[in-house]
Formats: sequence, structure tokens, C-alpha cells
Amino acid sequence: MDKRTFLRAVNVLEKQYKILPRRERPFKILIHGILSTRTKDTTTFPAQDRLLKLAGSPEAILKLSEKQIRDAIYPVGFYRTKARLLKATCRVLLDEYSGKVPHDKKELMKLPGVGDKVASLVLVWGFGLPFIPVDTHVSRVSQRLGIVQKGTKPVKIEEKLESITPKNRAIVLNHLLVTFGREICKPISPLCGSCPVYELCEFSGKIYYKNKSNKLINQKLLS
Ligand code: SF4
Repeated sequence: MDKRTFLRAVNVLEKQYKILPRRERPFKILIHGILSTRTKDTTTFPAQDRLLKLAGSPEAILKLSEKQIRDAIYPVGFYRTKARLLKATCRVLLDEYSGKVPHDKKELMKLPGVGDKVASLVLVWGFGLPFIPVDTHVSRVSQRLGIVQKGTKPVKIEEKLESITPKNRAIVLNHLLVTFGREICKPISPLCGSCPVYELCEFSGKIYYKNKSNKLINQKLLS
């Protein structure tokens, strides 16, 4: 898919979903990002809220024991490891960044538990900078649409997306593709029959899934 077609697809999706830029406290996004690895949003958000209610700053989190953190974030995936990483990250924030979350990708990636995706998440949602974190939804949608080839690694997908997306639109792109990926371009059985960018999509299985989802829609209408 060339840049022009990609931007046409983004236009269509922007009109459909009307996503507004999201801004939250960088520390909150950092906690969210660390907790979210291999964990569903429905588990991550309540866990993050429980922890931040208990301790809303690096200083306060350092005062908690690892057990208290574990109890607050359970049942996120790898909660034991994440409890350790959270404490280690808060220690580094206090010792090296005066308790503030850095707004530089390289610096962010020095923090324990912070990889490429979490760093980009903090930069876009916490600081409003044009970064496009690539999670499972962004990765799948980018490959199916044909923005990148099948099997492209997330870090390369991010590079590609950031190189072809105007900066003012990059700040909503993650949220836009995640929403689209959850609602229409689902992991199993995408709803190609209801897809607003069907004509632009390069996914080879789209005719099969279009017929399948149309059949499902007809069945629902008849029942
Ligand atoms: S046509 Fe199907 S595979 Fe392509 S973007 Fe739409 S839902 Fe996804």
C-alpha cells in the first residue's frame, strides 16, 4: 500500500471513529505501559487504578513493599516480575531524573520494564509527541492493509508508520488502529463485510471473510 492509499484509509477511519488526542499524566501512562505487557486492557486499567490510588508517585511506590504492589496489580500477567520492575523504575526515576518521567525515547528505554512500545506510549499519550506504539492490533491491521509485509517486526512497523504519517495525525493513529482492530479487523474472523476500507485493503483473504461476515449479518437479520 502506498502512502497516498494509506492516508486515504486513515481519512476514512478518522471520519468513522472521531478519535480525539489522549493526554494523561506521563507517570500514569508509564505505569499503564509496564502493567499492560501481555495483559488485556480489562485487567490492566483496574490494576493501574488500584496501584495509583495506593501510591500515585515514584516516592510513594518506593515506600510500598513488593507484596503490597503485587497484591494491588494482581492478576496482570507476570505480576511478580512487574512488581519488581515498578520499584526498580521508580528508583531510577528518583535517582536519575528527579522523580520526573523523561520525554526522550532513548532515556525512557533505559528504565526497567520499558521497551519500544511502552516508551512510545508514554511519549504520545503522556507528552503529546508524534509516536505510534505498535501493539498486537496495530501490527495486525498494518500487515493486513498492506502498509508493511507480513511478518514485519513491531519496531519496523512503527518506523514505517511514523515515516508516512503527518505529525498532527500520528498522535491518534495508535488509538485509531487499535479501535478499528478491536471492532472490525478482529484477529480471528475480521468483519470484512462491514469494513469501511475494504476497497483499499490488500489482505488476500478479504473476499472469504467478506462472504463469511455477510452470511453472519444475514443470519442475524433473519433470526
Ligand atoms: S477488509 Fe478485512 S482484513 Fe482488510 S482491513 Fe478491512 S476488516 Fe481488515
